Amino acid sequence: MAFDFDLFVIGAGSGGVRAARFAAGFGARVAVAESRYLGGTCVNVGCVPKKLLVYGAHYSEDFEQAHGFGWTAGKPSFDWPTLIANKNREIERLNGIYRNLLVNSGVTLLEGHARIVDPHTVEINGQRHTTANILVATGGWPQVPDIPGKEHAITSNEAFFLKALPRRVLVVGGGYIAVEFASIFNGMGAQTIQAYRGPLFLRGFDQGVREHLRDELVKKGIDLRFNTEVTRIDKQADGTLAATLKDGSVIQTDCVFYATGRRPMLDNLGLENTGVKLKKDGFIEVDDEYRTAEPSILAIGDVIGRVPLTPVALAEGMAVARRLFRSEEYRKVDYKLIPTAVFSLPNIGTVGMTTEEARGAGHEVKLFESRFRPMKLTLTESQEKTLMKLVVDAKTDRVLGVHMVGPDAGEIVQGIAVALKAGATKQVFDDTIGIHPTAAEEFVTLR
Ligand code: FAD
Ligand code: NDP
Repeated sequence: MAFDFDLFVIGAGSGGVRAARFAAGFGARVAVAESRYLGGTCVNVGCVPKKLLVYGAHYSEDFEQAHGFGWTAGKPSFDWPTLIANKNREIERLNGIYRNLLVNSGVTLLEGHARIVDPHTVEINGQRHTTANILVATGGWPQVPDIPGKEHAITSNEAFFLKALPRRVLVVGGGYIAVEFASIFNGMGAQTIQAYRGPLFLRGFDQGVREHLRDELVKKGIDLRFNTEVTRIDKQADGTLAATLKDGSVIQTDCVFYATGRRPMLDNLGLENTGVKLKKDGFIEVDDEYRTAEPSILAIGDVIGRVPLTPVALAEGMAVARRLFRSEEYRKVDYKLIPTAVFSLPNIGTVGMTTEEARGAGHEVKLFESRFRPMKLTLTESQEKTLMKLVVDAKTDRVLGVHMVGPDAGEIVQGIAVALKAGATKQVFDDTIGIHPTAAEEFVTLR
């Protein structure tokens, strides 16, 4: 049977664009459907605008620290609408780049909501298209617990477009997004409270890293409340929000920001017209080559709920394009040693096992750790400390994990991740000559 397309991708986000472009480059007839924004979450309401806001938030410290280096300037003031307008302009530029990338690689771009009608047919804007394969790359969506008054809360989707910076913000959650946005709001000058249900945020990260970041955020003025939950939100006559915590106390605030995880985006996708199966947590079930239970349908990225990070979605998109259309170049995605950063202020950078994971896996662990005041801060009043940590297997000398909290942690750990992928031992770190004076050299001088 002749189909209109070899591959129909639903979702032009990180994974979908990568799969579509490369599949078209390999000679396949490819369509991609996008209902909201080219580039998906990462470009529009995720990594990119988030990082721009983090840069913006750091300026408050930069201005203060400049005094120590002899600079004086007028009292700095911050204008949120200027930052948001400039950010929006940059995102529009990136949307244009994504459009060109797709069109120039020969992909048919269809803008609208796509719905699967049967395992080989997708409907969009009232038109049906037949296809040999469908790739679901529809990403995720913020999830807010069902509490009274939840309609008064915002999520990361809305935060990027707020008209004004709230004077007071209550951030709820203890994952990546909550920690990053607490730093953003606090750095911009909002009185920031972060409430998390567990004893310490960033569950799954190295315990020492979590404790270090907690102490640094407190020094910067974020009011951290652990072991608590918001039970209701009430809007008062003057527009102020009253968030009630489980101990009965009430927080008066101007904005309640929820970052309590993300669900798969499957709304009106038509999966009921297929044999695609979902996992218990609602994400799409796939095998190790991204095949769903329906032979012609594949899925990648956040919608499969494996590792919801952009570089992982890119790698999965690439793997699908190669396996289908350039099988001689196909390589499985390697999920081991995925480095990651949390762009809090200060940043976290991490790759490999945490101390707890290494011990849990039966390794006899040797820890190497350094805490120091970064050189740039020695002429300033900032008491911020950097943490650098190596988790080493005492028997084999293999470096199992590398963790950092401090400026540019993500930039530094990206390079170190290559060493870990290559199987570096502590001796290899020791034999490496440092770059002086840097913070990164600590990783090769830890004894
Ligand atoms: P997405 O990028 O979400 O793309 C899915 C696309 O599908 C969307 O454009 C959507 O509109 C479209 N779509 C959905 N349904 C349909 C339909 N039926 N028809 C047509 N189109 C449809 N990751 C990092 O690695 N680093 C970071 O710093 C980082 N920061 C983040 C910050 C925030 C606030 C958030 C929310 C996420 C962040 N992430 C970060 C995660 C990253 O954005 C995601 O892992 C990544 O975007 C997933 O890519 P994807 O292709 O699976 O889906
Ligand atoms: P996460 O899964 O990272 O964190 C969710 C947080 O919400 C956890 O602290 C969780 O607590 C808490 N939570 C979940 N349900 C509830 C509830 N019902 N009530 C109260 N608290 C709740 O999700 P995020 O939304 O922060 O981010 C989604 C994903 O996006 C991340 O996992 C990450 O992969 C990606 N991302 C990556 C970034 C980066 O690379 N820098 C930045 C931002 C996002 P508990 O731990 O107790 O379960």
